[in-house]
Amino acid sequence: MANLSLKHIYKVYDGKVKAVNDFCMDIEDKEFIVFVGPSGCGKSTTLRMIAGLEKITAGELRINDVIVNDYEPKDRDIAMVFQNYALYPHMTVAENMGLSLKIAKVPKDEIDKKVREAAEILGITEYLERKPKQLSGGQRQRVALGRAIVRNPKVFLLDEPLSNLDAKLRATMRAEITRLHNKLQTTFIYVTHDQVEAMTMGTRIVVMKDGYIQQIDTPQNLYKYPINMFVAGFIGTPQMNFFDGVITKDGNNVSFSLDNGVQIKADYELVNKIHVKYFDGQKKIVIGVRPEDIKLYDESLDEEIWQKVPAVVDVSEILGGETLLHCRFTNTSEGTTDVVVKVSGECFVKMGDAIQIAINKKNMHVFDKETEDSIKPRMPKESAVSAKISGKEMSFCGQTFTLPNQIISAIQDGAYQLSVPSDAVSLGRGVGKADVIAKETIGNKILYTLRVGESVLFSVTDTDCDIPLGKVSFDLDMSKLSFEGKTSLSALNTVNVLNGTFVQLKEKNENGKKIVRYCMQIDEQLLYSPYEVTEKLFNCLGKATFTTPLGYIFESDAVHIVEESCHNETLCGKIEGILDYGEKKFAKITIGDSTIVAETVGDLSTGDNVYVSIDYGKFSVKDNGINMLII
Ligand code: ADP
Repeated sequence: MANLSLKHIYKVYDGKVKAVNDFCMDIEDKEFIVFVGPSGCGKSTTLRMIAGLEKITAGELRINDVIVNDYEPKDRDIAMVFQNYALYPHMTVAENMGLSLKIAKVPKDEIDKKVREAAEILGITEYLERKPKQLSGGQRQRVALGRAIVRNPKVFLLDEPLSNLDAKLRATMRAEITRLHNKLQTTFIYVTHDQVEAMTMGTRIVVMKDGYIQQIDTPQNLYKYPINMFVAGFIGTPQMNFFDGVITKDGNNVSFSLDNGVQIKADYELVNKIHVKYFDGQKKIVIGVRPEDIKLYDESLDEEIWQKVPAVVDVSEILGGETLLHCRFTNTSEGTTDVVVKVSGECFVKMGDAIQIAINKKNMHVFDKETEDSIKPRMPKESAVSAKISGKEMSFCGQTFTLPNQIISAIQDGAYQLSVPSDAVSLGRGVGKADVIAKETIGNKILYTLRVGESVLFSVTDTDCDIPLGKVSFDLDMSKLSFEGKTSLSALNTVNVLNGTFVQLKEKNENGKKIVRYCMQIDEQLLYSPYEVTEKLFNCLGKATFTTPLGYIFESDAVHIVEESCHNETLCGKIEGILDYGEKKFAKITIGDSTIVAETVGDLSTGDNVYVSIDYGKFSVKDNGINMLII
């Protein structure tokens, strides 16, 4: 029984090579987690940090809610199975399997019993007295698994355990390991570069690239909602088809004009998660279509969903249960574009045949060509509408909102493009009127799609506020909106970063005794460092703690304005302005060369000198040198 929590885990070699960056994940008991990605992406390093074979540079690893960063591998109750089985050649299978128990001085009959039980589970009882060289690769891998099972660990870590086996045996062992997981009811973490292994075995998959997590999700969700082109291309065989193009929108009609001349037309409703900024006919996009989302056209297909496109067959691969057609689009203005189509059953089209194919518009993926991120995400972060500002009012799509003083004073009257983050829209109250047209549960969040006039807004909540489809009132958190027009105004940045260093201070305590205190130094001012902060910095940076440029990070609600200064417990600053967002007010405070934002309730005015203290419960520290979160 084990749950694991990995919080902001980093692995940095020699102070510069970042093998694993900001790995964050909670793993529940009994999950089968697969880390997948190309060679060198940091999978094994992460696994080895969990096992305790590699020191964690920064971050926190918990097993069953206990921080185990400094635990020896043997004290973590974890068993690891490697690609090379590492069996002792001079020992029998039974001796190899029982070795760890023997070292732990477990009585002999108990070892025998455990070895027999494990051999039974793995179907290797008849080989117990053989030596490893008398076994096949698959049997040796079973012994390696058996050696892990006898220890009855809380967590199984498996590092590419099947890559030494041939394709057929791999498929058998894949199923066997899945069965073993069901039988043992333990947490498994499995590393592979093979997406088929990941998709068939994992309850959840972590896709990694260049040391960064790309996406964590169930196999189904990774396949259906890839977050970027890398995940889209990595998951699924044959690979997703990608086509470059641009998008335009006219009323309710959206057109995808691909560089190869193909036009795909869709109702806005079908693609309303695409941010409107991509509808300008200029921004380069890439559409992604899985081979199984393309069919041979037939007239019964619903045209709302299926786009007919002519093509010519290049190669037809009949695989028995399905046929892969490698085609070329024919109405291309420039060159040719290949497209792979997966047709179920046998399909007797020949090379050179002109055919009509149909692309599923609903399942089409759309990416930003430059960033390669999905621009039709499952959970849109924001939407945009055209708004008009006049005096104290803002109107868009037939809605009128009264603006808070901060916005009125910051921008002039006129037309604006308004960015509305999904978490700025709250439902069930407020002067806005909308129609809820869709409601989806995504992870532990709920996404509502709202139609407001001709536009779409999204609202995301942590808890189900039980809003049915249909009419709803809504409110906007004005501090989260951004305005682009004659003048521009960004959303209020509530994350404060104060750059500084870490220093040692020699002081005398109340008895006159010399003591050493550790402090954060921010622009000539000092703040005593809480013990946990000091400990984590030293653990991570060692001697470099005093030379590393640091960023002290905290949200606006973690800053408290206090009346009196307290020696090295408060920072002194000056109020540069009060940001009046109606329900909430913020003070902009200058501290040396930096400015921070603090939520305020009191009566404060511009020009006031103030003292601030920081709530270290909501505090992080970053190594600005190599951009690594330490706390
Ligand atoms: P994967 O398991 O995904 O193939 P690894 O976790 O083994 O990748 O490696 C991740 C990265 O860390 C690679 O770029 C590798 O070169 C680097 N790396 C691994 N071990 C060391 C080391 N001891 N010193 C320096 N770099 C290392």
